[in-house]
Amino acid sequence: MNFQQKLKELSRNLYWTWQPEMIDLFRDIDPVLWREVNHNPVEFLSRISSEELERKADDLALNARINHAFHHLKNYLQEDINWGRLNAAPLHAHPVAYFSAEFGIHESLPLYSGGLGVLAGDHLKSASDLGVPIVGVGLFYAQGYFNQKLTENGWQEENYFAADVNKLPMEKAGQDDGNPLEIRVDTLSSKITAHIWSANVGRNKLLLLDSDVASNSEQDRSLTSTLYGGDARTRIRQELLLGVGGLRALWKLGIEPGVLHLNEGHSAFAILEYARNLMEKEARSFDEIREKTAQKIVFTPHTPVESGHDRFEPQLIEETLEPMRHSLGLHPSKFLALGRLEPENNQEHFCMTVLGIKLSHYTNAVSSLHARTTQKMWEKLWPQTPQHQGFLNHITNGIHIASWLAVPLDSLYTRYLGQDWEKKLCVPDTWKGLEKMENDEFWEHLQAPKTQLIKFIHRRVCRKCGTARRGNLLMEHEKILLNPHTLTIGFSRRFSEYKRAFLILSDLERLDKIINNKEKPVQIIFSGKAHPANKQGKELLQQVIKVSKDPRFIGKIVFIEDYDINVARHLVQGVDLWLNTPRRPMEACGTSGQKIVLNGGLNLSTFDGWWPEAYDGRNGFGIGNGYENADPNKQDETDRKSLYETLENTVIPMFYDRNGEGTPDEWITYQKHAIRTLAWRFNASRMVKDYTRNAYLPAIGGKTSSYQ
Ligand SMILES: *Cc1c(COP(=O)(O)O)cnc(C)c1O
Repeated sequence: MNFQQKLKELSRNLYWTWQPEMIDLFRDIDPVLWREVNHNPVEFLSRISSEELERKADDLALNARINHAFHHLKNYLQEDINWGRLNAAPLHAHPVAYFSAEFGIHESLPLYSGGLGVLAGDHLKSASDLGVPIVGVGLFYAQGYFNQKLTENGWQEENYFAADVNKLPMEKAGQDDGNPLEIRVDTLSSKITAHIWSANVGRNKLLLLDSDVASNSEQDRSLTSTLYGGDARTRIRQELLLGVGGLRALWKLGIEPGVLHLNEGHSAFAILEYARNLMEKEARSFDEIREKTAQKIVFTPHTPVESGHDRFEPQLIEETLEPMRHSLGLHPSKFLALGRLEPENNQEHFCMTVLGIKLSHYTNAVSSLHARTTQKMWEKLWPQTPQHQGFLNHITNGIHIASWLAVPLDSLYTRYLGQDWEKKLCVPDTWKGLEKMENDEFWEHLQAPKTQLIKFIHRRVCRKCGTARRGNLLMEHEKILLNPHTLTIGFSRRFSEYKRAFLILSDLERLDKIINNKEKPVQIIFSGKAHPANKQGKELLQQVIKVSKDPRFIGKIVFIEDYDINVARHLVQGVDLWLNTPRRPMEACGTSGQKIVLNGGLNLSTFDGWWPEAYDGRNGFGIGNGYENADPNKQDETDRKSLYETLENTVIPMFYDRNGEGTPDEWITYQKHAIRTLAWRFNASRMVKDYTRNAYLPAIGGKTSSYQ
């Protein structure tokens, strides 16, 4: 195999996305082009001629590096002793099918909108590293989520661009005769056909269904074109394709999953397809196979926000699922009862979360607090589902460390924790090694990612300037003023009301004093998208933009457009402090703050999501004390006061309290303590191990899991 073929192989397994060695390799070939193609190596290689590549490889002496990277990938794929081999053997014959409406693996494959998708991506990557066999099942959105553009007065506009499938790292699953494999799902009004794309995520595969097939109606051809776009009818048909079509796709490819893990309710129709198949195989009725079906289902709901749980009108359910209902031999009222809190209530809509909870043997929340909230939210269900009595299970979310860790810290950890630290990262003692690290050395390693972040923002602002009207002085100012020595706060996430981007902006005079303090200045970087249909979210975003253009804050409060994994990576690696202000208990877990810890940043957060489990008084900062109030205004008022006071009295003084060398000793003590106490728990390796032991293996062994 020549070096060009090796590069091509590297580009076609998303393993490269968490290997700095491979990323550097692509970048070094042509840094400008690498950026231009949004770090997409398939497109990158398609844009360089063979002769040019030959010449560059010679000039840069790349051959040895390409060989090394290639063997690295091969060895990884062939590794036969790992955690999964030892601890998850039954899954090798029958893998986990992990269903999710979004997968956030890398910015070059834009099939995600936010935390849910990034979590799914991190789950697949960690499962691959551990050797736990999982097949991801999702939809291929040719136009993905939207690209965010802000108008002059800060209003969000959405742009959709169709991806060129030839420039994405996926293959169409085909039969030997060269025709693509097809799956079909029937509704009353049409038959939806889909093709199956397959992408490699390390040792695991991600399957993506695509309804852009010539035999479909025009309407069905565009069914999968955007993520969370369209009306209820589009949504339910997407979900039908994801759940029912997804399972059919696995079978078509000869994969018999041992467990179905439904990441959020979107894919819950998969349960019905599993049941239908079992009824057919065993010639039994729905009631007879119901329990056996539930044994195979792991269901993870992800939000206490009401509108985050899909509900469909009975009529729409009938139009879409009549053929399925017929196969299951169920009367409409009995079928609808599967998705109703009150089975007898004919007015009630069909809820995907209810279906998931009722027909799964293992339902779990994603943090300890979320378990309590979820338990309460679906209280009415528990008498109908004896297996869920008592406390709801929870498996707290985690992040895939290799995807989020800044390179200088990676090498620092290797030095202090040992070569194989990534294999032992769930062992608390692994992190003890950090105690030997000098504060100065640690501090120094944090400076490069911070400078990188500011350069990244400058490039983004320049790009925007290029397209903005001439004479836009505001933008010019922004370009100049961010300062790497200033305490830098990051606030980036979806603009949902409960996340309260407005909290820090609610007293501008006080904020002015904080930001423009001569000795102890502060700067804040915002980023994030509002859902296209969420007017309130867009207004919030507009409020942030307005403040960022206020003369007092120009260049000190900055908004980065078009939040994505790339922006997130730069931010979590470069900021000093991560601000998280969800209105408790609305944040199920939150993972962005976990990305901060590894990179030496500190969290300043309300006690919501993962933070009550994590905080010990010395590994970050808390806002309020877990206070909740039925009146959101009262709660906001209390949290706002606490936020400002903590910033002014604790956070800022600590950051600027320097020793003779200019190092903030107490701050660094906090940072080291945060890594030491949090890194081993709040990572996706621990999360996947928990799912394997508590949910996957009991499902495949047919054993009843314990409900604690
Ligand atoms: C980590 C991440 C999220 C999740 O952020 P939360 O603060 O948990 O909501 C969302 N979007 C992107 C791009 C991320 O990387």
